Amino acid sequence: MEIDTDVIRRALKDPAYMTALATRLIKTGQMAAPCAREDYHLTAPQRTAVLAIGGGPGADDHILQWSTCPLPPRHSGPHYAILRYLGDDRAVWIRWLGPLSELVTLAECKLSTADDHACPLFAGHDGTCPAL
Ligand SMILES: [Zn+2]
Ligand SMILES: [Zn+2]
Repeated sequence: MEIDTDVIRRALKDPAYMTALATRLIKTGQMAAPCAREDYHLTAPQRTAVLAIGGGPGADDHILQWSTCPLPPRHSGPHYAILRYLGDDRAVWIRWLGPLSELVTLAECKLSTADDHACPLFAGHDGTCPAL
């Protein structure tokens, strides 16, 4: 199956299609499914865009270098990694699948019931909050 930009763009807009696509690509060996951030590289325009997003008091003024995808290992669908905390319960994330990525600003997940660890994911994530 050819993975062209249109396929990836559709996948980024349609979660069900994304899941089906990613599952198929992983199964057929066309896409590795690690969550490591070495899989993508921010472009210079993306770096500029991340730093240009307005935040609240205490917003980070730098991009986190070593964040990793906090979703369960070997999950299907796009990977996420946090890039910058905005200081107002939101953060800038990169969402990527294969070669295409996009920047998204997401609210922090507030569902974790653990006393000492906040959920590392964003509001509305699938499944239960991961234990750290
Ligand atoms: Zn991942
Ligand atoms: Zn959560």
